[in-house]
Amino acid sequence: MGDLASGAVPQDQPPSVDRLARSLAHIDLPMPLLVDAARSAIADGDPNSAAERARSIKQRLLAPVINGTGVLLHTNLGRAPLPWSQTADYSNLEVDLTTGDRGDRQHGIGMLLAQACGAEAAMVVNNCAAAVMLVLAALAQDRMAVVSRGELVEIGGGFRVPDVMAWSGAQLLEVGTTNRTRRSDYAAALADPRNDVALVVQVHRSNFRLLGYTETPSTTELAQLGPPLLFNIGSGLLDSRCPWLSGGPPPWLDSEPAARQSIEAGASLVTFSGDKLFGGPQAGIIAGRAELVEACRKHPLARALRPGSLVLAALQNTALAYLRQDGEAVDFWRMAVLSTDQLRNRLDAYEGLRVTDTSSTPGGGTLPGVEIKSLGVAVAGDHTKQLRSLPRPIIARVCDGETIVDLRTVHPVDDIEVAAALHQAAV
Ligand SMILES: *Cc1c(COP(=O)(O)O)cnc(C)c1O
Repeated sequence: MGDLASGAVPQDQPPSVDRLARSLAHIDLPMPLLVDAARSAIADGDPNSAAERARSIKQRLLAPVINGTGVLLHTNLGRAPLPWSQTADYSNLEVDLTTGDRGDRQHGIGMLLAQACGAEAAMVVNNCAAAVMLVLAALAQDRMAVVSRGELVEIGGGFRVPDVMAWSGAQLLEVGTTNRTRRSDYAAALADPRNDVALVVQVHRSNFRLLGYTETPSTTELAQLGPPLLFNIGSGLLDSRCPWLSGGPPPWLDSEPAARQSIEAGASLVTFSGDKLFGGPQAGIIAGRAELVEACRKHPLARALRPGSLVLAALQNTALAYLRQDGEAVDFWRMAVLSTDQLRNRLDAYEGLRVTDTSSTPGGGTLPGVEIKSLGVAVAGDHTKQLRSLPRPIIARVCDGETIVDLRTVHPVDDIEVAAALHQAAV
């Protein structure tokens, strides 16, 4: 038995699964999972590997990590980071506290988001793909939605605009070419009496750029064609003036479309993700004209795509931060606008490590090609695996044979922990 506790198991007499599993009790997992690890280790004739197998089961569970990659919206690390905790209280999710009657779970958040984007109304679903699907189903089912061939894009993770449109029951009417679509192409499609067009759809090419001989009508031109215009802006910039940032918009935002300005330009509805440039939880936001949002809310699919109270509460927090113009409270923006001087001020914690200039990126399929000047700390060699196996894993990147941690995406309270891990890795 002493042998088992120390992990050494004589190979000639396989231990019982139960006994081996109990010897793994120091690994914080429920017994059925430790039994799985023990059983597979014994089955493979390698009982000594049971602890490693249990640890790898544990690594599959969701847990906080430190993002040292410099990618602000890292899709594999949950896009926008946001703080959240709550007590086991009930909430007024679906009760109207003024009347005591049944209320609408979207009432509060809809009001905040409409206010934040300058829209008449807004609602929330589970992600932006669901938002586009719901708008098309509610407004263009069995009718046509006209879209430019230059905007039939695939956003990461298999979201293909033409597929989503097909699933919604709307018929896709393609106009123009990959690189050039003119206002007259849309107008000709609308003038054809065979086409029953319910919606004009504009899609932001979030994750790639079209350069050279190109043409795309403006949102204003598309809005004047006649049918309602849905602009899927995707990345979720709320207002191009960024009133929540004391220094105004950072130069790298460039010509990123924003919800407020798209609505001002005439878009009837905009759709965007909650966890990209908006910096909130995974969600899809639909904002715009009241009667169109209402049609989405009433569609049967809305019930299947509705978010739970955890998401609504976290999104409400983010929306309130914007309405207070408090960019510091939205972690994506807090990190995105840090100057290299602010990063340099944290270097005391990293004494003894090589400091290097580096570039952060917005990530999450937004702003392709944008690099934000940043500061990193480096140690020779590839230590990424070791850093990933820490109790709180650190995700770093390797560049020219060095392991680099970009300070922009590391929270300052974690500096000491990251520095210690890098010193440890370097020995
Ligand atoms: C990211 C993105 C989507 C998908 O958003 P999810 O919230 O991940 O579903 C759709 N359209 C555009 C233009 C995007 O940028």
